[in-house]
Parts: sequence; C-alpha cells; structure tokens
Amino acid sequence: MSSVLRPVLHRASSVRLLGTTAPRTANGSQSAATPPKVDGILHDKLAFEDPGAFRVKTLGELLRSLGVFQLCSFPVLVNNCGKLMSVARSLLGKRGFSLVLRPSIYAQFVAGESEAEIAVAMEKMRSLGLRTMLAVPIEEDLGESTGERRYDDNLEAMLECVRLSHSNACADPMMQLKITALLSAELCVKLSSLLAKEQYDLAQLVRAMEGESVHFPGLTESENTHFLYGLRRLHKVGEASFRKVRVLVDAEYTYMNPALSLVTMAMMKKFNQAGAWIWNTYQCYLKESRSLLLDAIRQSVSQSFCLGVKLVRGAYMDKERKLAAKDGRPDPVQPSWEDTNRSYNGLLDVMLELISRNPERYRLIVATHNEESVRHAVSRMLQLGIDRQGGAVCFGQLLGMCDHVSLTLAQHGFAVYKSVPYGSVDDTVPYLVRRAQENRTVLQGIRKERDLLRREMRRRLKEGLLGSAKRG
Ligand SMILES: Cc1cc2nc3c(=O)[nH]c(=O)nc-3n(C[C@H](O)[C@H](O)[C@H](O)COP(=O)(O)OP(=O)(O)OC[C@H]3O[C@@H](n4cnc5c(N)ncnc54)[C@H](O)[C@@H]3O)c2cc1C
Repeated sequence: MSSVLRPVLHRASSVRLLGTTAPRTANGSQSAATPPKVDGILHDKLAFEDPGAFRVKTLGELLRSLGVFQLCSFPVLVNNCGKLMSVARSLLGKRGFSLVLRPSIYAQFVAGESEAEIAVAMEKMRSLGLRTMLAVPIEEDLGESTGERRYDDNLEAMLECVRLSHSNACADPMMQLKITALLSAELCVKLSSLLAKEQYDLAQLVRAMEGESVHFPGLTESENTHFLYGLRRLHKVGEASFRKVRVLVDAEYTYMNPALSLVTMAMMKKFNQAGAWIWNTYQCYLKESRSLLLDAIRQSVSQSFCLGVKLVRGAYMDKERKLAAKDGRPDPVQPSWEDTNRSYNGLLDVMLELISRNPERYRLIVATHNEESVRHAVSRMLQLGIDRQGGAVCFGQLLGMCDHVSLTLAQHGFAVYKSVPYGSVDDTVPYLVRRAQENRTVLQGIRKERDLLRREMRRRLKEGLLGSAKRG
C-alpha cells in the first residue's frame, strides 16, 4: 500500500456514510493477486459463456456482428484499416463508400448521423437494459491544430452532445469529452512541460474559466489568449451539463495528459462540489498511473470536490513506446500486459474501497472489455457491499464490442454504458480507424463473442425448424 494513500483514506473515512461497509486496508496489489470469488449463479453467468445474452438481438444484428467480427479476425485488415479505407473511398467515391460502410462497419460501431437515428439507437440500447455515453468523434494530435473558429465549432458540437444526451435521457446520462477538441494539442504539450516545473492554482483556473483575464506564467501572449478561450469553452460545457449529464474527460498521450488533468481538475473544483459531474480518466498501462490516481484522490479531499474516475488500460501504447525510444526516455508503459492487468485490478481495488466508504464523493466507471477485470470488480463490489444500482460504480464498453459482457452485466442489474460515437461516415471513419488500432488486441481476440453469436444463430435455426415441424 502506498504511503501516499494512507492519510487520504484516513481523511476520507472521517466523512464515511453511516451504514456502509467497515473500513479495510486498501491493499490493491494483494487483492489483485487473489481475486475474490463471486457467489453461485452470478459466478456461472460471469464466465460470459451464455449465448442467451444475445436473445435480445435481431437476426440482422447477429449476422452483421458475425460478418464484421470475421473481418476483424484478420490482423492484416485491422492493422491496415486506415489505408484500406482511404483506398476504398477513392475507388468507390463518397457515395459508394458510404453505401458499403453504412450497413456494415458503421452500423456496428456508430449510432448514426441524424438526431432521429441517434434517438433510435439510444432507445434500442435502453430496451436492452444498456445506457448511452455519447462521444463526439473529434480529437486532435500535434500538428493538427486548427484555428479558434474551429474550436468554437467543436464547442457547438459538444453542447449539442450535451443536449442529445439529456433529451434522450437514459438514466443518469454520460458523455465523453476530448479536451483537445477545445484547446490546441500544442498548448496542452507546452502546459504539460510547464507543469513539470511549476504548479498552477486551481482557483485561478476557475476564475479564468468564469471570464477573468488571468495571465498564466510561462505562456506567450497568444498562447495565454488561446488558453483563456479554451478554458471558457470548457466552462460552457460544464455549465450546460451541470446536474444533467456527467462529462467524462478522455485521457490521451503522456506528453499532454498533465495539462488535460489540470483543466479537468479545475472543472471538478467548479462543478463537483456536491456530486461528480466531471470525471477524469486514468490509464493503468502507465507506470505512474497509481501515483496519478492517488494524487487526484488527495486533491479531491484537499479541494473538497467529488471525484469521478474512468479507469481504462490505455489506448496509445505503441506510440508512447516509440516516442520514448526515439527520445531516449524510459518506457512510460508497463512492461507487459500482465503488469497492466495487475495495475488495473489494483486501482480498481483502491477506488472500490473508497466508494464503499463514501459512495457520495467517489464514482467509478470500469471501462474495459477485459472479462477478468469485470469479474474482479463485481466480486469486490459484492464483498464490500457496494449497491450495484446505487450509481457509484458502473461499467463501460464500446458500442458494437463485447456485447456478451455488457448484456450479461445489465441482465444482472449492473449499470452498463456503451460508448457511442455518432456523425457522418466521413467524420467517423478516422475515429473508427483509431479505435480499431487501439483495440486491435480486443478485436482480434473476439473469437469468444463470435462463438456465442454462432451458438445463438444455431439455437434460433433449430427453434425455427422445430416450430415449423410442429406447425406442419
Ligand atoms: C468506455 C471506454 C472509454 C475509453 N476511454 C479511453 C480514454 O479516455 N483514454 C484511453 O487511452 N483509452 C480509452 N479507452 C480504451 C482503453 O484504454 C483500451 O485501449 C481498450 O479498452 C482495450 O483495453 P481493455 O481493458 O478493454 O482490453 P484488454 O484486451 O484486456 O487490454 C488491452 C490493453 O492492455 C494494454 N496492453 C496490451 N498489451 C500490452 C503490453 N504488452 N504491455 C503493457 N500493456 C499492454 C493496452 O492498454 C491495451 O489497450 C476506453 C475504453 C472504453 C471501453
């Protein structure tokens, strides 16, 4: 157990709610090594081997998923999907490309383009017992910076996302936010390097968000102006979503994450006094993930705000490693997948312990397709007496992926969100390509979901044949 967390837990326990589980030592690594058992029926169901989860799907949906997953099982297709898509687009033209993609890959992973299509997708999700976390497919890396006007347009898209999330309300709606849609990646990198040397005051950032003309040390006049504009854009998203939609800020690359966390913490300070409306993301593949999360917990206590945490493994492993090797820096990523798994389950334990003591101040989304981590989270929730419908802990998977996990969890009363991108084919293709690269291990290991889909198809076929034999 890190010595950093101890005083935090001590303070957190002083505001413990009456009637919650007694405090335990938050020993993440120990629990991660010996995952607790889940009881009886739930234990069997959480093997995620029951094709019954797919009974709610139409035949067309089963066939489409099978076809798309079959394609994804070829590494050469997933690894080169960016190039393949652009070749297909130039050969088929915009219309032809859209005609091919819309009923297949697009329909599998994207909600739609028009408000009506998105509403239908959300309603469908609700009927399956799933919740929606809308994601605007805008993001920016270094060298892709656009002008102030473009960021203002992105702000409009984010505000529209708040509106769509709220108006088609599933219970407790959520949306994802990429800070680099509203603030240039270049400035985030510069701020991140400044933060290595000096601290920025959260209260000052909040004042800047609210419109005060602050000058931040280390920035040029034009950088400072852009930062103020960016902070005001973020403030508008915070205001529009406050008490309506929970905003989950995405984590990106290590060279810009400190800046993203800084502005997210400022938003938390402003909007999370009484509840977690703004959440931050922690990438467990980073060696520093434990200290980053413990720091955030400490800040939430010292600055008296509620902390919402999206826990992920991390999406940018290859690039992080390449950059570190190029710059001669130590690799920031855990040495192996097993180490990342240990890190993930350890941080799950830290959060679940905190939540069991104080579910009003801390919230967590277990954002993973990894069945073992899902089982680990469920078992710890049961052990710690965390209410599966209490709202403090929920699960998250991407739309179109690992539905056997999402549906099974939902069928057992857990809150499950699907991360749902929307937009035109042209707008969502770059997003889909990035997600495919990030999730290629998941996509290529999707054999189990394919097997379950096939078993459900066979069951329906048999049932259909028996039914017609009886009628005959
Ligand atoms: C709802 C949702 C929101 C997300 N938001 C974000 C976000 O904001 N930022 C972000 O970065 N990602 C985000 N992701 C993506 C996430 O980080 C993972 O890339 C993706 O979910 C695959 O991880 P897994 O836990 O689902 O599956 P698994 O297959 O169990 O894990 C794969 C992951 O393990 C890690 N890994 C694989 N091989 C190695 C290795 N050799 N050494 C070390 N680690 C390894 C990598 O992180 C890889 O992505 C999100 C995912 C979901 C479902």
